[in-house]
Amino acid sequence: MEQGTLLYEGKAKKVFATPDPDQVIQYFKDDATAFNAEKRGTIFNKGIVNNTISARLFQLLEEKGVATHFLEQLSDREMRTKHLKIIQIEVVVRNRATGSLVKRLGLEEGLELDPPLVEFFYKHDPLGDPLITEDHIRLLKLANDAQVAGLRQAALHINGILAPFFKDKGMLLVDFKLEFGDSNGQLILADEISPDTCRFWDIQTGERLDKDRFRKDLGRLEETYQEVLKRVCS
Ligand code: UDP
Repeated sequence: MEQGTLLYEGKAKKVFATPDPDQVIQYFKDDATAFNAEKRGTIFNKGIVNNTISARLFQLLEEKGVATHFLEQLSDREMRTKHLKIIQIEVVVRNRATGSLVKRLGLEEGLELDPPLVEFFYKHDPLGDPLITEDHIRLLKLANDAQVAGLRQAALHINGILAPFFKDKGMLLVDFKLEFGDSNGQLILADEISPDTCRFWDIQTGERLDKDRFRKDLGRLEETYQEVLKRVCS
């Protein structure tokens, strides 16, 4: 498809304008980064996998009544979405303790978190996306109190849909990160949901089926992304 003006280029995606100002095209790259972009690389065909998985999951969530920015998958690496102003908060939901939570609080790796834990991070690369409290959100005017309550509720609701979906595919949804936009007071799920933004552990073997393979140099990167694609789309 012919590409419009490049509006934004991030670490893993480009966003292009369309003739309709209310719509944009997300283009998924193979570039991978970790540790605030200190580690860089590429994963062959990751863009195709993440675009296709995100499209499938946005469709699933829409079917369950969650408002998302997804309009249609245009090609293997392109998705048409609603053009939203993104709230500068990363909302993380955790069903098990791992990653930065274990480092920060010294919890046992893999500890079950019931009820699931919701955390907010300030989406700000120069500061390295720090953890923030609701008071920080108020101070920085990133969202109002009703939006913060809405983000928490939406994130837990989405976890309640995604965790059983992945369980059915033999995958434990360990944790994931969401981003939202606001459209006339309505929260709309945006960005992507993929092995770059979620952690999955194989229920049988405990094998890592996500970007931790890149972060920790566990190998079999392409094969793992393809395996997740196969399971999600089967
Ligand atoms: N995550 C993400 N983008 C980020 C930071 C985290 O998609 O910039 C996801 C990550 O893949 C994991 C979850 O959010 O599924 C929680 O990540 P954590 O805070 O443990 O950070 P990390 O260990 O990656 O630094």
